Amino acid sequence: MYVYLNDRIVPRAEAMVSVFDHGFLYGDGVYETMRTYEGAIFMLDEHLVRLYRSASMIGLGMPLDQDRVKSALYDTLGANSLRNAYVRLTVSRGSGAVGLDPDLCRAPTLVIIAEEMKDYPKAMYEKGIKLIIAVTRRNSREAIDPRIKSLNFLNNILAKIEAKKAGADEAVMLNGSGYVAEGTVSNIFFFRDGVLCTPSVACGILDGITRDTVLDLAVREGLTVEEGEFSRDDLYGASEVFLTNTTMEVMPVSQVDSVRYGAGEIAGLLRRMYRGEVKAYVENVKGRGPSLWGYE
Ligand code: PMP
Repeated sequence: MYVYLNDRIVPRAEAMVSVFDHGFLYGDGVYETMRTYEGAIFMLDEHLVRLYRSASMIGLGMPLDQDRVKSALYDTLGANSLRNAYVRLTVSRGSGAVGLDPDLCRAPTLVIIAEEMKDYPKAMYEKGIKLIIAVTRRNSREAIDPRIKSLNFLNNILAKIEAKKAGADEAVMLNGSGYVAEGTVSNIFFFRDGVLCTPSVACGILDGITRDTVLDLAVREGLTVEEGEFSRDDLYGASEVFLTNTTMEVMPVSQVDSVRYGAGEIAGLLRRMYRGEVKAYVENVKGRGPSLWGYE
C-alpha cells in the first residue's frame, strides 16, 4: 500500500508524520472522505470545494491548488491500483514548536490514504441500523462550526462511545437548543406525514454532500421536502428514518432509542436513485477521459 505524503507517494511503512505536527498535538487541520466508483471519485469537485472552505474557515492555506490535489488523488489511486476505494485526504497545520499559535508551523502536512472500499454489510441495508440519541450535544456553531470538517472530532467520538455502550450502530446528536442535528459521521433524514424532513444547516451540521444529492433526488422525485428544526419527538413519530454519508450512501434505520421503524420504502427508493446518479456520474467522467488523470 502506498500513501501520498507531502508531494511524494511513499510505501505505507514510510508514511510518517512528526510528533510535533499540530494535527496530532491539537487536532488542528481539516479532511475529506471520498469514495471512488470504477476509478472515478464521486463528487470530486464538491469535496474539494468543501475541503478548501474548511481550510479557509480555520485560516489554513492549502499547500496545493485544486488541480494538483486532483492529480495527487488520482496518482495515489493509481499507485494502489484501486478502482472502488475509500479515500481520505487530510491536511494539518503541519509540524512546529509546541504551542497553539498556527504561525509556529511552517508548512501544512498533506496526506492521502486510499484503501479498497469495504462495503457495509448487506444485512444493514436490508434490516436497517440502530441509533441512539446521544446525551452529548453537537458543537455549537459559535464554538466550532460543524461545517468545518476538522480533525477535531472529539465531540463526535464522545457520542460514538455512547452508541457503542448502548449497542447501537450510530448516535444522533441534538444541538444546544435540543433540536436534532446529525449523526457522528452522517446526516439524518426522516419521513413523517408525507414529508421528507432533515435538519437545516442552520441547526449546526456538516452540509453533507450525500445529503445534498439526496435532497436533489427527492425533489426530482416529487417528494415534499422540509429542511428545518426538528425535535426528538418529531424523529420518534416518523414512519421512516435513514442516514446518509459518502461511504454508506443511504442507510435505513430500524430503531432510534426504543422506537422501531418500518420497511424503509423511501430510503430504498432514494438509495436506488443515488446509485443511478453514481452510475451517470461515472459514465460522464469516463467520457471525459482526462478527468481520470491517466488512471485506468
Ligand atoms: N456529518 C458528519 C459529522 C460527518 O462526519 C459526515 C461524513 N463526512 C457527514 C455528516 C456526511 O457528509 P458526506 O455526505 O459529505 O459524506
